[in-house]
Amino acid sequence: MKKTELFRNCMNIVVGKGNVNAKILFVGEAPGRNEDEQGLAFVGAAGKNLDKLLEKVGLSLDDVYIANILKCRPPENRDPLPDEIRAHTPWLLKQIREMKPKVVCSLGNYATKFFLAGGNVDEMREQVGISLVHGKVREVEIDGLKIKLIPLFHPAAIIYKRQLIDDWEKDMQKVKDVVFDFLRE
Ligand code: URA
Repeated sequence: MKKTELFRNCMNIVVGKGNVNAKILFVGEAPGRNEDEQGLAFVGAAGKNLDKLLEKVGLSLDDVYIANILKCRPPENRDPLPDEIRAHTPWLLKQIREMKPKVVCSLGNYATKFFLAGGNVDEMREQVGISLVHGKVREVEIDGLKIKLIPLFHPAAIIYKRQLIDDWEKDMQKVKDVVFDFLRE
């Protein structure tokens, strides 16, 4: 990770935020400008939207942990490159090994494809996009750990898009159904 251009050019490494003992892990794409400045995940406009959407279904940062595929901001928020994903995701895998989440909610295409590919970056290209798989619960195996994956639209993509917000709310209901039993364990 420290060998990447991204690391050399970012202000802060963004590890995540929330409860490291939570059973639900949300995974986004990469830090943006605000996240880079503050060293915290999802604190800009997408983060405010995510907080609001979580609150609507009764979830808080006590119930979830939120991390990203990339730990450093790509210049001008461009899409992550395969080599960068390869270099940065060992950290995410370490977080997963330590946290042992029961549910991963992948936010947007990059995180979704990473998990659908079982963490194999070379196989991400062959995975279907978020609009076909959002809200569909499936079991994936990451580093030997069986996890329920629930792909969701990225909170930045749904700002002001009524139809996608409706879809997100339906998908979140599924998240709630899946996590109901162990949410307050
Ligand atoms: N978008 C992301 O995917 N992650 C963040 O931390 C902020 C915006």
